[in-house]
Amino acid sequence: MSQEIKIGWLYPTLMSTYGDRGNVICIQRRCQWRGIGVSIVSLDSNSRSEDFYSVDLIVGGGAQDRQQEIVMRDLQGAKASAMKGQIEAGIPGVFTCGSPQLLGHYYEPALGQRIEGLGILDMVSKHPGPAAPRCIGNVVFAILSPSLYSQLKEYTEDDPIIIGFENHGGRTYLESVAPLGKVIKGYGNNGEDGFEGAFYHHALATYAHGPLLPKNPFVADWLIAKALEHKYGEKPVLKKLDDSLARQGREAMFKRLGVTTVVNNP
Ligand code: GLN
Repeated sequence: MSQEIKIGWLYPTLMSTYGDRGNVICIQRRCQWRGIGVSIVSLDSNSRSEDFYSVDLIVGGGAQDRQQEIVMRDLQGAKASAMKGQIEAGIPGVFTCGSPQLLGHYYEPALGQRIEGLGILDMVSKHPGPAAPRCIGNVVFAILSPSLYSQLKEYTEDDPIIIGFENHGGRTYLESVAPLGKVIKGYGNNGEDGFEGAFYHHALATYAHGPLLPKNPFVADWLIAKALEHKYGEKPVLKKLDDSLARQGREAMFKRLGVTTVVNNP
């Protein structure tokens, strides 16, 4: 029996800054190359809570402050409960920049009122105001959770260090939620505490655009494997793909940024 997964893409027209739609394409292609069926549905203002429950994996991208506010006005009630229910049930997800800000308790934009978040991740995000410099540049970070590190390691011969590009004004401060990584280069969550992103059940939150997954294909494979395992109850064996181009790209960036690739072993 051939297997398939359904990707839920959060508010694609409002939340896809800095090429984040590349994350959806990357998961789609890596499934297709392996003969895994894949479909994509938008989870947005036209969706019902049932649509949120129907997906096997959720992808959320970045957004500007104004768009985040529109999304949060819509993502309330039954849809908000469905998002929370899915993540708590272990559905994998990858959330970049603006979308993690909305998964926390709140986001205070540069101007205007606080936007209440879903409270799924125990963290808050605040923009220090329009005069404050944005956190912009390449970001490299090491995975902090030993368990996630060893799971990601199954999908790469190299060290599963994450590389991306960040561009955010908001600063995120973690409360009890675990950080995803420790910053090697760049700002990460707030440029102060050295943490990058958050990790909760099988949801990965990060400031890394890039888009993230083509630059870090092992993360895409981990998400696909978790989605299949959640759906079919059995850990899949994923066929190896030729990632030599991604690997060359990563090595070139590490070199340019002066990062030695063997630094991560929590
Ligand atoms: N609006 C958010 C900020 O500036 C997110 C930006 C983004 O998603 N790139 O912090």
